[in-house]
Amino acid sequence: MPPVVTSFDPELLIYIVPLGVIFLFYLGRRARHHRQSSAVFEDNQQAGLLEPASLHPHIDEAQCIGCAACVSACPERKHEVLGVIHGKAQLINPTACIGHGACKAACPVDAITLVFGTETRGVDIPNVKPNFETNVPGIFVAGELGGMGLIGNAVEQGRQAMDSVARLAGKGGGTDVMDVVIVGAGPAGFSASLAAMQKKLRYVTVEQDSLGGTVYNFPRGKLVMTRPVDLPVVGKVRFSEVSKEKLLQFWQKVEKDTGVKIRYKERVEDITTVKGGFVVKTTRGEYKTRAVLLAIGRRGTPRKLGVPGEELPKVTYRMIDPEQYKGRHVLVVGGGDSALEAATSIADQPGSTVTLSYRSEAFGRAKAKNRERLDQATAEGRLQVMLKSTVKEITPEQVTLEMDGKAIPIPNDGIIVCAGGILPTGFLKQVGIQVETKYGTR
Ligand SMILES: Cc1cc2nc3c(=O)[nH]c(=O)nc-3n(C[C@H](O)[C@H](O)[C@H](O)COP(=O)(O)OP(=O)(O)OC[C@H]3O[C@@H](n4cnc5c(N)ncnc54)[C@H](O)[C@@H]3O)c2cc1C
Ligand code: SF4
Repeated sequence: MPPVVTSFDPELLIYIVPLGVIFLFYLGRRARHHRQSSAVFEDNQQAGLLEPASLHPHIDEAQCIGCAACVSACPERKHEVLGVIHGKAQLINPTACIGHGACKAACPVDAITLVFGTETRGVDIPNVKPNFETNVPGIFVAGELGGMGLIGNAVEQGRQAMDSVARLAGKGGGTDVMDVVIVGAGPAGFSASLAAMQKKLRYVTVEQDSLGGTVYNFPRGKLVMTRPVDLPVVGKVRFSEVSKEKLLQFWQKVEKDTGVKIRYKERVEDITTVKGGFVVKTTRGEYKTRAVLLAIGRRGTPRKLGVPGEELPKVTYRMIDPEQYKGRHVLVVGGGDSALEAATSIADQPGSTVTLSYRSEAFGRAKAKNRERLDQATAEGRLQVMLKSTVKEITPEQVTLEMDGKAIPIPNDGIIVCAGGILPTGFLKQVGIQVETKYGTR
């Protein structure tokens, strides 16, 4: 057989060159994604921020083709929640994931499932029946506490849970007995309160903080993504993208216009079962009730310092807007990322003086980026760090710290305590509600 002689057709270059350019572009993009994502992931790993709070994506590496559609689809992408490392999607900033689920919907090869908890850290989810009742008859759960995050879901569940409460026998009993005590005025508790009013139930809503729950604590100007919801009394609300401030203003207007009653700055501490219902004990008193709706979310109750003067209005547990501290003397307490972010962003405000007090000797729990910002502000004299110090007393004009056995009074207009939160599991167990710990499952 004569040898086959092949000759290269130069016209093929018309196809080969563009394909080569596309391939090189793809490799460059992949390398860039890898570099950026690895840096974010390592930073979070060093700071120990590797466990998502609740519902989050689990990515099946065998199926993932690394297209990054999930990365672009994530509404929180500004916080770099997802990235692509070695050509596979990965949760690179797990604590910033809030369970939108947009990544799952965007994945073209179905590589994503949404799960609770991880192999190493379980998440406690109360056992709740389809009518939102727990194993304790008469105690109901709605909103994020039940495991399902997002504002739209919380509003929907608050309304539906109240349908179940209204179906309980014995409604409108003795005058001193409520039909329902609603705990929490986040999206779930607010919607439930409106539904209770609409159904003419005898209700009390108790909120330890402010209207809006977690939404109230979003950073200033945060764009809230939500679906249209059916808000009791009001009807269809068609927000899809709205600023945090506008959403809160809308809820405040609804509260005023409808006259729905919410008791703020009152925290539920215990619930005991009595004949015909429950006694709900709060920081201000007790309520007898036939049913209880827990709409307390999953973020918990901020941990307090337990010192004289902590009840003063200048003491808060989250920084929402650094600008409000312009020109003021501020103390930030804590050693994690939220404390460092609060201290450095207030130090950026003109005329403010900031002291950061932490009881340990180093900021080992914080991200490198925040530690660098802190070092810079300290070097420029905009911020003073007091390690191994604790707060002893707060008065309207000053705060006294203790350091090396000495009392140090400093002028003070505002205090932000970032000492973490007490999660709701203990409270649920105390009330007798069964919880299931999920380790990366639905
Ligand atoms: C940073 C961040 C961004 C988010 N962005 C979005 C978004 O864009 N779109 C979206 O749909 N969702 C978003 N979410 C999720 C959303 O905020 C929550 O899913 C939603 O607020 C849950 O509502 P909830 O009423 O169940 O609980 P929460 O909003 O957490 O409200 C619970 C309320 O109960 C109160 N409470 C707790 N314990 C007690 C007690 N013992 N006594 C009295 N009151 C008590 C709390 O003070 C709080 O006000 C985000 C979450 C976070 C953290
Ligand atoms: S969308 Fe799916 S396939 Fe594409 S990177 Fe994300 S998980 Fe992988």
